[in-house]
Amino acid sequence: MKKRVVITGAAGFIGSHLAETLLDRDYTVIGIDNLLTGDTANISHLHNRDFSFIKHDVTNYIYIDGPVDFVLHWASPASPIDYLELPIPTLKVGALGTHKALGLAKAKGARFVIASTSEVYGDPLEHPQKETYWGNVNPVGPRGVYDEAKRFAEAMTMAYHRYHGVDTKIVRIFNTYGPRMRLNDGRAVPAFMSQVLRNQDVTVFGDGSQTRSFTYITDLVDGIIRLMLSAENDPVNIGNPVEMTIKQIAETIITMTGSSSKIVYRPLPTDDPKQRRPDITRARTLLGWEPKVQLEEGLVKTIEYFRTKVG
Ligand code: UDP
Repeated sequence: MKKRVVITGAAGFIGSHLAETLLDRDYTVIGIDNLLTGDTANISHLHNRDFSFIKHDVTNYIYIDGPVDFVLHWASPASPIDYLELPIPTLKVGALGTHKALGLAKAKGARFVIASTSEVYGDPLEHPQKETYWGNVNPVGPRGVYDEAKRFAEAMTMAYHRYHGVDTKIVRIFNTYGPRMRLNDGRAVPAFMSQVLRNQDVTVFGDGSQTRSFTYITDLVDGIIRLMLSAENDPVNIGNPVEMTIKQIAETIITMTGSSSKIVYRPLPTDDPKQRRPDITRARTLLGWEPKVQLEEGLVKTIEYFRTKVG
């Protein structure tokens, strides 16, 4: 019997890649999305496969007919400008949506995986970030709606694990990039790519000395599936430990595209983390996972995609 997977947020950037890879690995996939930030164009090529789609807001009761083996809860606005514009839906999907998705997993006896985030570490005072670090989050700042929703989601997930015995997994996802990111989603890589491909100024926030570590989408999906199939219940960081400044990634994208764009500096958003790099010892030892795609290789594929989108 083929295993059946429910993915909330299946029409999003990561959700759609997860759906596609699980179909490739012979799973049946049921995708759910309310299309708030997702796009059916990301999943339109999956409809001739063992894939079905339900347009639904998972903050409301989720009804799925028949057996379910895995519930992957990916639904949420995930880019800073999205959650600034959608603060209440972000809080609701992290809290109420996680509750509904966990309820589905419990009712079906399914494994549950929650998409958590490096944002649970906030503006981290420990570097690199290990899963044992509790974080430095401003609950009342503009990013608090996302950070605290995901922290609540982790707490709810552990409660379902401890109290109801649901087999749960928590993946803390670090900055990820690749095809199907929205051109205007405001995150650094798509923002810089759309700017260079239009020969516009590249907007670096602050002085560009803040750091991030960028993971290519296929590496992330491989890590998520390894975690999904593992016996692990405690959080696992999945991210590329190669750390660079935002100015460096902007310069790399300008050079690779041969663009004449210049960097311009804009104010740093409130509570923008100054540094971020995952410690991936747990992913390495428990899952045998580490990233394989070099930055240049991933950027080439992403630029190819964005070239098709820039009019
Ligand atoms: N950033 C930037 N210019 C942009 C978009 C983002 O300099 O046009 C910076 C942002 O301030 C942050 C980093 O790039 O320091 C990564 O931002 P992103 O929105 O991709 O995600 P974050 O890691 O902050 O969640």
